[in-house]
Amino acid sequence: MIELPGLTREETRAWCKEHGMPAFRGDQVYRAVIQGMDFQEMTTIPQALRLSLQEQAVAQPVSIRSRYQSSVDDTVKYLFAMKDGNCVEGVLMHYHYGYSLCISTQVGCKMGCAFCASTLEGCVRNLTAAEMLGEVICVNRDLGSKGRVGHIVLMGAGEPLDNFEEVTHFLRLVRMEEGVGVGLRNVSLSTCGLVEKMRELADLDLPVTLSVSLHAPNDVIRRRIMPVAKRYAMEDVLAACRYYVQKTGRRVIFEYALIGGVNAQEEHARELAEKLRGLQCHVNLIPLNEVPERNLQGVNEATVQRFLKTLEGLHISATRRREMGDDIAGACGQLRRKVLTGSSEI
Ligand code: SAH
Repeated sequence: MIELPGLTREETRAWCKEHGMPAFRGDQVYRAVIQGMDFQEMTTIPQALRLSLQEQAVAQPVSIRSRYQSSVDDTVKYLFAMKDGNCVEGVLMHYHYGYSLCISTQVGCKMGCAFCASTLEGCVRNLTAAEMLGEVICVNRDLGSKGRVGHIVLMGAGEPLDNFEEVTHFLRLVRMEEGVGVGLRNVSLSTCGLVEKMRELADLDLPVTLSVSLHAPNDVIRRRIMPVAKRYAMEDVLAACRYYVQKTGRRVIFEYALIGGVNAQEEHARELAEKLRGLQCHVNLIPLNEVPERNLQGVNEATVQRFLKTLEGLHISATRRREMGDDIAGACGQLRRKVLTGSSEI
């Protein structure tokens, strides 16, 4: 069955026309889908027609299964349900510049990073572009008069570049003014570093901010925590980043989770600075969110600050990422796992 959020306005019109409806019906359906309506709510359309549409198409492939409001800030964590019963997570954050939504691109993930909860059961399936758009549509509807999603980060569960076709289709749809209307300058895509796909993305005219999960200053450490590092040398990842900067004119963001006893010492910061010299980039330091199933430790604030100062002293632009929604399992696959394993209430 066709998922309507995966169509442009033109395609929706064409689809409606094929099904014997005039063009203005296509516009009505398109607008209603973007507003998050299901067929039964599209009361501007005659009921007989709605029923027949319902047999041939899915208006809303995603719904909100549960939402958790943080008690310490404005962060909301969502668990989204899809038609086949799978669920994925999203996190809505409220910044001074507006609402930013972190969405998932796959059910689970097959990259196997040692610190990440999303990958513990492997990858169940890719999300479709319509489902990714569905995550945004649901949240916009949930926000109502409070506002709408203005920034999107593809940093939830899944490796976006491992679902390249659907993710790039999503990017083409999400930027459309008449649709969800989030410009690609306000979209970040985070990858564990799939080199060929990073280059392929650079060649498309889809100027998103590229975030790369580096998490290590060299291949020896990187291979210990990220299986993907056995496939791609750090040197090749950095070369692909330079290519991205050259093609898009945009700096690359490096994600670096500080893990006690693994990658968080001052010498690691110095080595990292050396590797990144001359690359137009910014480093985002994240104190590891400890995942109970993973035997890795976080770091204290002094360690974060020392790492940060060392990078800055060596003229590498860096910040410490704010932690939001800690009390609602805001991080990386933790919520879906809690629901899957039926463990403690959050
Ligand atoms: N697959 C993509 C995007 C999803 S993960 C990627 O690898 O970039 C989003 C970010 O959260 C990545 O930088 C990831 O490495 C990081 N992350 C995952 N688990 C984490 C944890 N327990 N603590 C801190 N950061 C984590």
